[in-house]
Amino acid sequence: MVLPFKHEPFTDFNESANREAFRQVLKKTESQLGEDIPLMINGQKVYTEEKIVSINPANKEQVVGKASMASTDHIDQAMNAAQEAFKEWGRWSAEARAEVLFRTAAIVRRKKYEFASILVYDAGKPWGQADADIAEGIDFLEYYGREMIKLAEGKWVEDRPNENNSYFYQPLGPGVAIPPWNFAFAIVCGTTVGPLVAGNTVLLKPSENTPVIAYKLVEALMEAGVPDGAIHFVPGDPKEIGDYLVDHSKTHFINFTGSRATGTRIIERAAKIQEGQDFLKRVVAEMGGKDTIIVDNDADIDLAADAIVQSAFGFQGQKCSACSRAIIHEAVYDEVLTKAIEKTKQITIGNTAEQDFYMSAVINQKQFDKIKQYIDIGKTEGELAYGGEMDDSNGYFVYPTIFKDVDPNAQIMQEEIFGPIVGFAKAKDFDELLDIANNTEYALTGAVISNNRKHLDRARYEFQVGNLYFNRGCTAAIVGYQPFGGFKMSGTNGKAGGPDYLPQFLHAKTVSEMF
Ligand code: GLU
Repeated sequence: MVLPFKHEPFTDFNESANREAFRQVLKKTESQLGEDIPLMINGQKVYTEEKIVSINPANKEQVVGKASMASTDHIDQAMNAAQEAFKEWGRWSAEARAEVLFRTAAIVRRKKYEFASILVYDAGKPWGQADADIAEGIDFLEYYGREMIKLAEGKWVEDRPNENNSYFYQPLGPGVAIPPWNFAFAIVCGTTVGPLVAGNTVLLKPSENTPVIAYKLVEALMEAGVPDGAIHFVPGDPKEIGDYLVDHSKTHFINFTGSRATGTRIIERAAKIQEGQDFLKRVVAEMGGKDTIIVDNDADIDLAADAIVQSAFGFQGQKCSACSRAIIHEAVYDEVLTKAIEKTKQITIGNTAEQDFYMSAVINQKQFDKIKQYIDIGKTEGELAYGGEMDDSNGYFVYPTIFKDVDPNAQIMQEEIFGPIVGFAKAKDFDELLDIANNTEYALTGAVISNNRKHLDRARYEFQVGNLYFNRGCTAAIVGYQPFGGFKMSGTNGKAGGPDYLPQFLHAKTVSEMF
């Protein structure tokens, strides 16, 4: 008996007992850092000479783990095994595959602090964000398991006299999951176990920034009973194996979350039919965002400032859902800006392996340098209202930064930065608020802070984003409650954690029998 889906509760780190317990686990994890992580190919651990060295972004000297790197030969081996294993795994009943996910969820739940502590070191996550990342991964396991059981019943189609019709789903074959580093457990888990529970076999290529936690997921899946050939772990240099995985003639789908540049490249390459390929590849691509919170003239000002600050600076602004544009009605612009600055001043920043700061470092040197460039550009495009400092002596720290009076068409208002920077701009009425909200190439998340029902109703249809929120921030979608994904240049709108997700990894089939 499968109980209805309920999302995994978050840990309350205001409770001193929880804080103490987590601190202990952080210490234990620290004593085990530096581990050698193997590839996992057909149930075999493979250690290679060349390694991806993963460090703590808040303490560059600290090595979190060393992951073996897959070559194109390893990919071929994994792909052959995945094709072979598909014959079995694809025929398991949906219930049996879902059971494996439910068992994995139980394993992860039991190790929740341990897993969350790895995210603190590997990705520089603040405690609450690390805990929420693990909770979301558990949610994907529980939710997709249930969705698959429902889908296995097929869908109702009509019969005529002497005719029996049925409509049901079958898996595609082996495919590839290419998740990002920013939800190094949740999205790794979702992009892998969605296609997996649908009956496909998966090669998982984690981000080179966060391989350690991704390997923990693979271990948990195998402990829970995923057969050897159904899941393979192939970290590596994207330049060497990225295109190879996408182009491979046996790759049936690519489940990608990451940058717009990589996403569009994948879509283009996957369209090309390779020798020996007799099917079309499916691509599910969740790409960038340039997400806007608009504040109406009769909004709750405190709520508006809170929503902007939390959505802009939570996890250092490194969510594709993060608020990077605050568009405010001119009647309340000064007040919202002043309050947002006041709240930003309260933000603490530091190495979250030592203490639960609100913000930690950004992921790596490349991102740090890119954000620096945007801060310089911002200074020419608007007025620096708060922050702007950076320090990469020990870790990649970027302080929360607010620009005011920025032209909505300015570069920092149009391009995805992926750091703790938000630009404020003014609008004269609700029409203009909406126009500006829609004037980017992206359509991922957005929020409206307003007490005007007519305006909320207009925004419901006219604000062009995949995830729209009223009177709250624009991040932190919950699996099964707020299916997540956007359109325009934000991607194929795969709606992770929603009822339309799994059919993207399935063929629908109609069988009609005459009597
Ligand atoms: N689902 C996350 C949220 O709602 C964002 C995912 C991402 O950054 O890719 O905040």
